[in-house]
Amino acid sequence: MRKVKAEPFKIKMVEPLKEISREEREKALIEAGYNPFLLKAEDVYIDLLTDSGTGAMSDRQWAGIMMGDESYAGSRNYYNLLHTAQDIFGHEYIIPTHQGRGAEQVLFPLLIKPGQYVLGNMHFDTTKAHIELAGGKAVNFITDKALDTMTYDPFKGNFDLEGMESFIKNNDVKDIAFILITVTCNSAGGQPVSMENIKAVKEMADRYGIRVFLDAARFAENAYFIKEREEGYQDKSVKDIVTEMFSYAEGFTMSAKKDGIVNIGGLLGVKEDENLYIEARSRLVPLEGFPTYGGLTGRDMEALAIGLREGVQEDYLAYRIDQVKYLGDRLIEGGVPIQYPTGGHAVFVDAKKMLPHIPYHQFPAQVLANELYLEAGIRGVEIGSFLLGRDPETNEQLESPLELVRLTIPRRVYTYNHMDVIADALISIKERVHTLKGLEFTFEPKVLRHFTSRLKPVE
Ligand SMILES: *Cc1c(COP(=O)(O)O)cnc(C)c1O
Repeated sequence: MRKVKAEPFKIKMVEPLKEISREEREKALIEAGYNPFLLKAEDVYIDLLTDSGTGAMSDRQWAGIMMGDESYAGSRNYYNLLHTAQDIFGHEYIIPTHQGRGAEQVLFPLLIKPGQYVLGNMHFDTTKAHIELAGGKAVNFITDKALDTMTYDPFKGNFDLEGMESFIKNNDVKDIAFILITVTCNSAGGQPVSMENIKAVKEMADRYGIRVFLDAARFAENAYFIKEREEGYQDKSVKDIVTEMFSYAEGFTMSAKKDGIVNIGGLLGVKEDENLYIEARSRLVPLEGFPTYGGLTGRDMEALAIGLREGVQEDYLAYRIDQVKYLGDRLIEGGVPIQYPTGGHAVFVDAKKMLPHIPYHQFPAQVLANELYLEAGIRGVEIGSFLLGRDPETNEQLESPLELVRLTIPRRVYTYNHMDVIADALISIKERVHTLKGLEFTFEPKVLRHFTSRLKPVE
């Protein structure tokens, strides 16, 4: 048996989970139009839809909730959050927002002129949407290694530096708004970016006079991977590694619903550019709220200040990363193909390899996600052709290069026993995977179809 890093906490409050019967799940899935997004959470036993806002707060965070100072302006909780964030990130100006996309909608229009490019390793979907809403164009320069799911590489979230530099050379620098480094790289599977790569991006940006920002939802998991995997960082604390990562950026946007371990919240940071801060603060008021609350209550800010400190604790991160890896290892041993190595927050099952008899236009990863629900009440999410959608010009279904089921692990919520339930379910599905049938639409909305489409098995 593999030795696990047991949970560095004890459990003093529990939420009972009910596992409904297989017949009830069959009924629930039909009612949900074979789309797990439309299931009621109550009908789900283990919910792996997202790690966003789904983490468990600690007793200290809950105590912080009781310490909410609900003053409209200048609450004590804001100052605690400000000083905590200044200490961890080393940026002078800190603006609370209701969540990550709140920070994006405030900052991006200040940085982007219509038609400009924003260069990134791989932009997250709401981030790309806010770049486009501000008139910009999002371009990705992720390393080729990220697309090779089977071969180990320690930093699959890295930028393809050569590719980015030739893009910069082939364009007018005036047409580039900024570079955005996403840590960890969510869309590439929660894969980390090395400090060497972050530094090289910063050096390149300085050479061409381009600004650098961080999309920092999983800043602590990224820093932990650097400590584990990058030469020269073994003896540094995760907090010091975080501060160094942020020192290469002029500012950041952050969804605090991930490594901040709160159910709602976000941050916008500006290292030292006072003018940018003043402009951001002015936009904040009509969009999110007064500068000392930005869409959050006092108690939310207190929970976040405490969550940021807990998020960089090394025994917590060691357990967190180990738990995700444990699930990945069990699947690999059981012959279930996954994206390797596992990232910080999720395991991605390769449905294209597992269900080769189902073509992309019948959505093999959606088929597998549904079967996982029927088998054990587990809700994962399809990341493949169903998510990708149709060509806007020809209306043809596009073929995604990867057909994945994402199993996203909420923080401090499930135990290693739950990981075993998930692994056992997938291993047993593997034995009869050839009996599974593809899917076709019964209802397909024109926009954001992933969330509301209804499907049925093909005859
Ligand atoms: C979640 C996330 C966002 C958006 O944050 P929300 O809190 O969901 O608004 C932006 N970027 C990345 C990388 C994320 O993971």
